[in-house]
Amino acid sequence: MATSLDDLPLRDDLRGQSPYGAPQKKVPVALNVNENTHPIPEDVARDIVESVAAAVLEVNRYPDREFTLLRRSLAAYLGHGLTPEQIWAANGSNEVIQQILQAFGGPGRRALGFPPTYSMHSIITRGTGTEWVEGGRDEGFRISPETVVREIERTDPDIVFLCGPNNPTGTPLDIATVEAAYAATRGIVIVDEAYAEFMPADIPSALTLLPGRERLLVSRTMSKAFAFAGARVGYLAADPAAIDALRLVRLPYHLSSLTQAAAVAALRHADEMLAMVDDIKGQRDRIVARLEELGYTPWPTWSNFVLFGGVDDPNAVFEKLLERGIIVRDLAIPGHLRVSAGTEAETTAFLDAMSDIRLGA
Ligand SMILES: *Cc1c(COP(=O)(O)O)cnc(C)c1O
Repeated sequence: MATSLDDLPLRDDLRGQSPYGAPQKKVPVALNVNENTHPIPEDVARDIVESVAAAVLEVNRYPDREFTLLRRSLAAYLGHGLTPEQIWAANGSNEVIQQILQAFGGPGRRALGFPPTYSMHSIITRGTGTEWVEGGRDEGFRISPETVVREIERTDPDIVFLCGPNNPTGTPLDIATVEAAYAATRGIVIVDEAYAEFMPADIPSALTLLPGRERLLVSRTMSKAFAFAGARVGYLAADPAAIDALRLVRLPYHLSSLTQAAAVAALRHADEMLAMVDDIKGQRDRIVARLEELGYTPWPTWSNFVLFGGVDDPNAVFEKLLERGIIVRDLAIPGHLRVSAGTEAETTAFLDAMSDIRLGA
């Protein structure tokens, strides 16, 4: 007998909500969830497998609850003078963000975000019983310091979400906006830097703002630049006190010993793991240039994907690409689609298909 959600004693505030829903389809060219489409190098894979194998031999024991080695590795990778006490990690940055909401949000509290932005920010906010409120962006999806201050003063949030570069638009986030947000709010400021490695090299990360700002939390992930989406490793840099707050809500032993071993091994090969980043940036710039030639309007992007407008019927283009074995993302932004930069061959397949579609072929 089919049971629907309506038959269950679900929390009232979850009724009518939709789950995270990026389609997972097996297609030859998957450019829909901003993964790194380059597989990890085989020698790195071998080292990871050996490390995991060693961990399996001790899997009868609970893992190091404080994932000491991993925090040390992440601190070394991030640099900026960060110490392991300033690092936290979980099963994807989504879990890190959930822990932040559990510790600093909850019923009676409010989080401010700036759509269009990463859908998980609002989903996690609501999932923790926190109220989600929305601020407006400026021209070109940007957020100026003045705008962020105005929206914070209007909504008086307990938590402010900033996403830089922003997903799904690729839009840069100025560090001045983070500084202004921090100064204007009494609450927590989360800067989601999932795409930090794809920014121009000379642009400062929000990590540079951490000293003296104990309510600023900067989240990162190994899912994108690091080609590690399947392993589920996200992390955070913040004041040690903020990390103590997360210890109050995390499940004990939340990071398995296999995950810890895999991540530490991957971080030993950070240079090799990141070797594809420049190539991906090149493919991204190629997508922007070619889509412009084809008469679409790609937005400036500092990430590994491109949001482009000028699509008369996004759903029809999405379906035509799918017929050709290519999946992109339709985010219900009118006239727009988003595509992740692939390998050179994948990117070519996408651009050739877009050219055919433009010509009505
Ligand atoms: C992809 C993405 C993440 C990654 O989440 P994980 O749980 O670490 O895989 C986080 N934030 C944004 C904005 C993203 O686009």
